[in-house]
Amino acid sequence: MKHIIPFITQKQNDGTLEWLTALRADLPDEVIVPFDDLSKAEREQVDVAIVANPDPAHLEMLPNLKWVQSLWAGVERLLAEMPKKNVEIVRMTDPQLSLNMAEAVLAWTLYLHRDMPRYARQQEQRIWVEHPLPLASQRNVSILGLGKLGQLAAENLLGQGFNVLGWSRSQADIEGVETFSGPQGLTEMLTKTDILIVLLPLTNETENILNHEELSKLPKDASVINFARGPIINEAALLSLLDEGHLKHAVLDVFKEEPLPRNSVLWSHPKITVLPHISAPTTISTASKIVAQNITHYRVTGDLPETVDRTRGY
Ligand code: NAP
Repeated sequence: MKHIIPFITQKQNDGTLEWLTALRADLPDEVIVPFDDLSKAEREQVDVAIVANPDPAHLEMLPNLKWVQSLWAGVERLLAEMPKKNVEIVRMTDPQLSLNMAEAVLAWTLYLHRDMPRYARQQEQRIWVEHPLPLASQRNVSILGLGKLGQLAAENLLGQGFNVLGWSRSQADIEGVETFSGPQGLTEMLTKTDILIVLLPLTNETENILNHEELSKLPKDASVINFARGPIINEAALLSLLDEGHLKHAVLDVFKEEPLPRNSVLWSHPKITVLPHISAPTTISTASKIVAQNITHYRVTGDLPETVDRTRGY
């Protein structure tokens, strides 16, 4: 008998058809249907659901749900909204997603390293002035978060010749990277940083972790790239340090409110580059195969893939 797996997403999400097509092709032994197409009897059979920003009420209507496979890497919202604490959460970890992020980290690090915002401003004013260019090996690029995304980003930066530092909860050991952990480690790393890259999950511990006090520890003219989640950085602190001339530039891909409201001051700030959450898009073709592997393995062995730790929050 084929199992029924609901695909649960809020209506405004696009890409549903593409996901359904890919998932149905990669999981031919399962019946994958949008939540609304399930009968009451079918809802009772469901033990696994595939979710992307689901309506929590829909999850409540699945009495035998054991785990959900999220199509997203960040699960803070799902953790907060998941009605039943005994339902496990599996987040998206796709090597292709790590590659996409590592590429973005390299691209926007080079943007800052090569002073592109400054030359763009000069062009607007027809100014022909050359500025000194430090070697990549003279730039300390620090990564907050050395997980699936941070580690590959670090390796990519090393390959480009940057001096790479990294901070995580547990002490990491990555060849060629100077690693730190704990509050003191954070201070030590921040004080040496030229370009800071945020790749932490949003948790109770990381929310607002880059407040005025911590951001002030960055040397003058350091820059910040946030590719993780908006609330990790205190926006007012960032703005004041940019305005005072302490920080040089910020590349922001994620915000407290998304889409970034049209009246936000961030849009037109000369020292801020705004990106519409595009640093690491999910590649449906590869991510669908990861989902298929996870579900097939579960059907054969009864074992769940690695699940989110509710206490840690990631
Ligand atoms: P991950 O594999 O879970 O890694 C998280 C890293 O952060 C780990 O190194 C972890 O330390 C560290 N960390 C967590 N809490 C910490 C704390 N309190 N203090 C210090 N370090 C802490 O996550 P990932 O797959 O790399 O993804 C990271 C985040 O990127 C996601 O949660 C998501 O929000 C974001 N993301 C953004 C986009 C985008 O397009 N902008 C796309 C995908 C993901 P340990 O190693 O000790 O556990």
